[in-house]
Amino acid sequence: MQDWLQRLGIAEENPGVFDGDWGGSGALVESASPIDGSVIACVRQATAAECETAVGRAHEAFLKWRMVPAPARGETIRRLGNELRRVKPELARLVTLEIGKILAEAEGEVQEMIDICDYAVGLSRQFHGLTLPSERPHHRLMEQWHPLGVVGVITAFNFPVAVWSWNSTIAAVCGDSVVWKPSHQTPLCAIAVTRIAERVCRETGADPAIFTLLCGGAETAGERLATDPRVPLVSATGSCAMGRVVAQKVSARLGRTLLELGGNNAVIVTPSANLELAVRAIVFGAVGTAGQRCTSTRRVIVHESITAALKERLIAAFESVRIGDPLDGATLMGPLISREAVIAMQAAIERLQREGGRILCGGDGTAPEGTPEGGRYMKPCLAEVSGNLPVVLEETFAPLLYVMSYREFDEAIALHNGVPQGLSSGIFTNDFREAERFLGASGSDCGIANGNAGTSGAEIGGAFGGEKDTGGGRESGSDSWEHYMRRQTNTINYGDDLPLAQGIEFGD
Ligand code: NAD
Repeated sequence: MQDWLQRLGIAEENPGVFDGDWGGSGALVESASPIDGSVIACVRQATAAECETAVGRAHEAFLKWRMVPAPARGETIRRLGNELRRVKPELARLVTLEIGKILAEAEGEVQEMIDICDYAVGLSRQFHGLTLPSERPHHRLMEQWHPLGVVGVITAFNFPVAVWSWNSTIAAVCGDSVVWKPSHQTPLCAIAVTRIAERVCRETGADPAIFTLLCGGAETAGERLATDPRVPLVSATGSCAMGRVVAQKVSARLGRTLLELGGNNAVIVTPSANLELAVRAIVFGAVGTAGQRCTSTRRVIVHESITAALKERLIAAFESVRIGDPLDGATLMGPLISREAVIAMQAAIERLQREGGRILCGGDGTAPEGTPEGGRYMKPCLAEVSGNLPVVLEETFAPLLYVMSYREFDEAIALHNGVPQGLSSGIFTNDFREAERFLGASGSDCGIANGNAGTSGAEIGGAFGGEKDTGGGRESGSDSWEHYMRRQTNTINYGDDLPLAQGIEFGD
């Protein structure tokens, strides 16, 4: 095992369960790098019984943690941020090795963890409630926020470390403990992060079981979190199909969910747009993380007067993208996560041609020249379609971008909103009326709507999430912390009488 992996606590065989102690006696699974298919290390998965025990340990940790003052909880997260700063190069390298995003993006992902730590530390002094005027004399009416309990965090492969931190650092300062079920494709990133969190907790005296980890399948670890009544909130990030199953299971026991599901993000380009800006944003949005971001740009809706000019620029940009080993600083696009992802991209390309779409570049199914043997590399594909064909309505999690033309602005908005998902969106225009309409009530129906900025690359300060099939959840900044707490309304009578609300007279 290489030195830098050892510094992250990764061995050839790793325990995949942490609940204050490391363990795991289920199946031994390999984590292979999409860069060249080589095995990085193995992980021992959680059994059903270990999941049961781990949730119990996380609950015990919660009972103690909720009594620690919030700013003192923030101190643990402040130190977590510092520790992440220290190991940023190694952790980013592991993200690249395990999922194949280029190093610059992996470093950005770890930076996002550091940023959210800083944000959570500030928040730990700001969980303010309201004091409201009471209608009764000598009464005080107020609201306060209390810790909620064990938060189940289910994460997708494509942000294997940041999504944990969006949830866990906020949940921790709110006084909750977290049980994390990472993607089966990224167990090593999860183990490395949990080892960092454990180290910090041991330094500050916090029970490390506030950051419990369950590496395991959807059926064992995932479904356990969805059905366990000791888990009042399940925050699940992944496909719409997963969200449907998890939401139904959690709501069957009247638990809460925070869902961050698939996107089908579009950019509208109007005649007054700065095409230079638009092209840069679209290419980063479509090709960044090999089209495997929830906010990846999947559709471009362009005015017919500039369609030809935009297509020409996009083809040139797509054809010049350097594809290859994501650890090489010159590479702009690494591999897809798996063989299944390559097959799914090819299937979508074949289907779009059957449905009448036309390939403009890429999409020939062969790995680009010079890419490492054994990897899952594809050229980015640009296709022209006439509106939202059936294949366009689905999220193909790959670098596949559809271009469609519009004539009237209303038509552009209708095309934009005419898909089941509603995560991120952007408009490129220098006409403020178009921009305002796009951001207005009858404009973009997404949780994120940008002006002269692309769909990808949100900042942590704003609430992150989307509407419709994207699930409606909000994570990260703004008031998203409220999801991780329980709200309590208090009425305090400091008089000698007992007046009832609404002036009700009851007996003497
Ligand atoms: P996925 O749905 O296959 O898996 C996501 C997670 O859910 C994994 O940990 C998986 O094991 C778990 N899971 C799957 N079925 C489950 C079940 N029945 N019960 C409990 N857990 C279950 O998604 P993926 O391929 O890892 O990630 C890609 C998807 O995630 C895309 O659709 C992408 O748009 C979405 N995503 C959304 C956001 C967002 O914030 N909206 C962020 C990242 C990724």
